Amino acid sequence: MRPSHSAILLTLAVTSTVLAQDAKPLGYQDTPIIPGTNWHVHDGLRPQPKIITPGKNPGDAPSDAIMLFDGKDLSKFKKNPSPKPNWTVEEGCAVSVKGAGYLESTDQFGPDIQLHVEWAAPTPPEGTGQGRGNSGVFLFGVYEIQVLDCYENKTYPDGQAAALYGQTPPLVNACRKPGEFQTYDIIFNGPRFEGSELKQPAYATVLHNGVVVQNHVQLLGATGHKNAAKYTPHGDKGPIKLQDHGNPVRYRNLWIRELQPVDSQ
Ligand code: MG
Repeated sequence: MRPSHSAILLTLAVTSTVLAQDAKPLGYQDTPIIPGTNWHVHDGLRPQPKIITPGKNPGDAPSDAIMLFDGKDLSKFKKNPSPKPNWTVEEGCAVSVKGAGYLESTDQFGPDIQLHVEWAAPTPPEGTGQGRGNSGVFLFGVYEIQVLDCYENKTYPDGQAAALYGQTPPLVNACRKPGEFQTYDIIFNGPRFEGSELKQPAYATVLHNGVVVQNHVQLLGATGHKNAAKYTPHGDKGPIKLQDHGNPVRYRNLWIRELQPVDSQ
């Protein structure tokens, strides 16, 4: 059946209304400038945030993440020359091997990053204090977020799981039992140096099993043992390192995102 004259007119009217809406600029240009930016309040010309696809379930990598370890191989990490042992892959997990040393990413990341880590302490548990399920996540290779089996295992507070080791204890102890997988979601702002001068210290925010345990905490410098932390200048990017502390701690689902400044897309 042929469309009636009025139906055609109606279609044209609707189409022109839609086109007019499309042509209408987004937002406003007659509003104040937001201090510190070149943009008006509600400025429609401001760059649109990049569209990404989030992970299906909490903890899954979003589409713009770089997978460091997906359970298959350690190709994103450096290998030790023979005869030094290497970390192994067992049942989809990267496992710390005594004597292998740090598992260090081949690529470098920074200066601002989001890092997702899943880890499990050995079961049955062995040792006490710092000797039980010890490992660590090192940002820029030198700033440690402690990994330790702190389930019914006391140690000094600045050495607990999710502590900024030697500097700041976690706000709470959110440890799961040994053998159970635990998550760290780390937002890390690397320090800025100008030559040998520190321009801006590093900051860390950490969620342990979904619980905020470090709330934008300023770091005092690189991690040390039994000494006061201090900064040594380094570049805007650095490796991710996982610590071998002699305990077979397991890791899985490691992914990272470099955080781009707003308006830079
Ligand atoms: Mg450690």
